[in-house]
Amino acid sequence: MVKYFEFDGQRVLLGRLERGDDVLSSLTEFCARQGVAVGWVEALGAVERGGVGYYDREARAYRETWFDEGMEIASLTGNISRKDGDTFLHCHVILADRDGRCFGGHLLEGTVAFACEFSITALTGPVPERTHDEATGLALW
Ligand code: ZN
Repeated sequence: MVKYFEFDGQRVLLGRLERGDDVLSSLTEFCARQGVAVGWVEALGAVERGGVGYYDREARAYRETWFDEGMEIASLTGNISRKDGDTFLHCHVILADRDGRCFGGHLLEGTVAFACEFSITALTGPVPERTHDEATGLALW
C-alpha cells in the first residue's frame, strides 16, 4: 500500500546560497523562515567540501564519504517535511569532480564553493511528520 499526501496549492521560490553556506542547514533555515513546511527542493552549483551517506540497512547506520575538493552539484533533490516538530529536509545529491566522475548519496553536509542555485516548491496541505520506523531504523513518513 502506498502512503501518500495530497496537496492543492503551491508556490515556487528561486534563490541562491552564498559561498561558505552549508547547503543543508541554509536551505532548512530558509524554509523555516519562509514558512515552507512541506514541499520539495532542487539545486545545482558547486561545493568545496562535504559528505554523503549510504544507508547500510544491516548496520542501521550511514556509511559516510567525505571530500574536501571542489565538486559540481550535478543534481540535488530532496523533500521538505517535519521531524521532531522542526522543518526537516531530506536531500540526495550527485556530485561531479573535475573529470566528470560522479558519486552521490544522502547529503550530510556541503559547503557552497561559489554558487548554489535552488528551487523550492512549497505546497499547501498536510505536513508529513517523520517518525522512527522500526523495520529500517530510519525516520520515515
Ligand atoms: Zn536519504
